[in-house]
Amino acid sequence: MTALSLSLPALVHNLSVLRSRLNNSTQIIGVVKANAYGLGSVAIAKKLVEEGVTYLAVAYGAEGIELRKAGLHCPIMVFYPQPDHFNALIQHCLEPVLYNRYSFEKFSQCLKQQQIPSYPIHLKFNTGLNRIGFTEGECSWLLNELPKAPFELRSVYSHLAASEEAVPHQPTQRQFEAFQKVKSQFENQHPTAFFHILNTSGVFNYPKYQFDAVRAGIALYGFANQPQWDVQLKAVAKLTAKIIQIHNLEKGETVGYNQAWTAPKPSRIATLPLGHADGIGRQFGHGKGQVRIKEQYAPIVGHVCMDMVMIDVSNIACEEGDTAVLFDNKSPLQDWAETGQTIPYEFLTGLSQRIPRLIVY
Ligand SMILES: *Cc1c(COP(=O)(O)O)cnc(C)c1O
Repeated sequence: MTALSLSLPALVHNLSVLRSRLNNSTQIIGVVKANAYGLGSVAIAKKLVEEGVTYLAVAYGAEGIELRKAGLHCPIMVFYPQPDHFNALIQHCLEPVLYNRYSFEKFSQCLKQQQIPSYPIHLKFNTGLNRIGFTEGECSWLLNELPKAPFELRSVYSHLAASEEAVPHQPTQRQFEAFQKVKSQFENQHPTAFFHILNTSGVFNYPKYQFDAVRAGIALYGFANQPQWDVQLKAVAKLTAKIIQIHNLEKGETVGYNQAWTAPKPSRIATLPLGHADGIGRQFGHGKGQVRIKEQYAPIVGHVCMDMVMIDVSNIACEEGDTAVLFDNKSPLQDWAETGQTIPYEFLTGLSQRIPRLIVY
């Protein structure tokens, strides 16, 4: 059957690669947002916690609630909470990141209404990405308001816009400088708060700026945005599908919708049970996507359908029931991402929930 196999040993390996690049005292915040980048957040989160990761992060409240319902009790940071979900966050002991005065005041009101005297929060600063976050100029407002708010400040952070660019990189350097100014304003009044700015590529490019913690996502899953870093990691996900039917075509017969492919010679065409509804987009049709069967490569012919793709196996001695590998350690997912003119982040999160996830222990 079609399956996305998730290797927990590969996850543990990637975690150890990250740890080897960091000081012992630096915490790794395991980023499991977007269902652990499309893979399956519960199994991944449980393994990370078992391996000593003490903090997890998700993007939205519902993702954190799913983890709580699955029995995860560790602190969970919610990067982009929406004020409409603040009460649900409180109910599930999820820690919001507050990023502007509006979210700060709204969350403070929610806690006061529920007469909660102190609740863990994180503060996000914008140092150049210009997406969300307080400005450096709002430090004094925050330092003045924090003692009056029912908050326990857990951490202060920022996010890099181009951490994978070759070093030195001026805009990134400016972000570090801005963050250090913020940090120096907070650390005296909030000695227990921890500080962080690095994501995966940041860990590889700027270990010097690891501060107290790093927020690692994609590296855990086996990718680090540079080939020389990727080789140190192992792909956690492997996507396979089994041939459900093989047709023998005469020269001139066509395959798929709109007769998009015509056999140039007598051909064997295999059908695989996954298509664009599974995340294999139409850009992979017409020979762009390749699968591996018995260590040989076969191209997708014609259009990718919603539920199936057809591949040309004329030169491969295979049968119905044989397994095709779309990507694994040997057929890198980066190639699929590149062919699809995207990046592993998007390709992975686009693999739909229809594909069963199989945990490999
Ligand atoms: C997604 C995200 C991360 C993780 O980034 P990777 O490049 O996957 O390591 C870190 N911090 C924030 C704020 C994020 O949104």
